[in-house]
Amino acid sequence: MRLLPELLLTPTGWESDRAVAITDGRIAAVEPVGAPRRTDVALPGRALLPGTVNSHCHTFQSLLRGLGDDLDFMGWRDRVLYPFSQRLDRAGIALGAAFAFAEMLKQGATTCVDFFYLQDAGNDNAEAVIEAARAIGIRLVLARAMYDWDGAPARYRETPADAARRVRELIAAHRHDETVVVQPAPHSPHGASAAMIQAGWEIAESERSVFHIHVAEGQYEGERTLREHGATPIRYLDRLGVLGPRMVGVHCVWLDDAEIALMGARGAALAYCPGSNMFLGDGITRLPEMLRAGVRVGLGTDGGCTNNRLSVFEEMRTCSLLQRVRLLDGTALPATTAFDLGTRSAAAMLGLEAGAIVTGQLADLVAVDLAHLSLQPRSDLLRSVVYAMSPEAISDVWVHGRRVVENRRLTTVSEADLVARVNALTRGWSL
Ligand SMILES: [Zn+2]
Repeated sequence: MRLLPELLLTPTGWESDRAVAITDGRIAAVEPVGAPRRTDVALPGRALLPGTVNSHCHTFQSLLRGLGDDLDFMGWRDRVLYPFSQRLDRAGIALGAAFAFAEMLKQGATTCVDFFYLQDAGNDNAEAVIEAARAIGIRLVLARAMYDWDGAPARYRETPADAARRVRELIAAHRHDETVVVQPAPHSPHGASAAMIQAGWEIAESERSVFHIHVAEGQYEGERTLREHGATPIRYLDRLGVLGPRMVGVHCVWLDDAEIALMGARGAALAYCPGSNMFLGDGITRLPEMLRAGVRVGLGTDGGCTNNRLSVFEEMRTCSLLQRVRLLDGTALPATTAFDLGTRSAAAMLGLEAGAIVTGQLADLVAVDLAHLSLQPRSDLLRSVVYAMSPEAISDVWVHGRRVVENRRLTTVSEADLVARVNALTRGWSL
């Protein structure tokens, strides 16, 4: 198959009169259009971009959207997250995942990291998320959580030995999947014991993968880690020996200068969720400082009830605007950087060969309608995509070469049916 857009975005800029040939889920060539072929898919009036990568999400939380919108973090956690997540059985978890994946695809996210922690002492629920990702057609990084703080609901919790065994089993079960990767995810310095964090790191080491961990989202976390472990979160993780190139720290809002430098020096990465941090009133991650320190970064939306949108394009815009406000500087984070953090940089951080339209990369692509009002006038298209584009401009999406959105409609699921099922499950839910 070849896609023939009017324009396509390569690492060197916009190109026209080029075709993207796709074979076995990968970009086989970016070549001159030449003579027409039977399998060509013409995309007149469309620009082809790399799909965006959502580096951090909790898909079941989409079902909780709207329940606790004007609460602070603790109110949200204790009145919404903990009690309502208890209402979801395996089918509910699968529906929440399908719902979130469907919304993400329509907004141009072709990969989602689901940091998943409703384990019920097994992998059945995680398998339900994986099945949903396959059915809807998104690429999934299942960040299989490892949680043992006894303040959290029992279904989240496991012993380090049980969690480690189950994570290894899930990784082995999906080692050869084309669109699913399983990675370990000890919850956080406050949600996982030192033994649990080290178990997650050991799995990442032996599997040569990354591991995900929430770090310093709220100000209270640093104080708590300091009190309980005698060090602030990044120093504590360094002391455990896990701060290194395998670590993807989520949020990292409350780091001091030395912690930022330490993350850079150790080669650690950041999954940055500016929209969620704003929604919950967490604070502002010092993104330009972290980039300058050498920290690798990908953007994420976080869960659907702490944002409350699921668009990485939106996070590109948000991360740039937020740094301008913080630094009183309109040049604080340019569009090209923001776009990179939501595509190539995020994919590289996760170990995926995606995020750029280059031969050999995974064929995860997004087409946008060049005639859409939000992309006029045609001055600088990349900046317009980051700062101005409406999600309605996204017309088509391919994941692993499969067209999962066609002319703004999901090809894999009935949207009306999905909406009906979501509303049937959540009817009557309120605080
Ligand atoms: Zn999270």
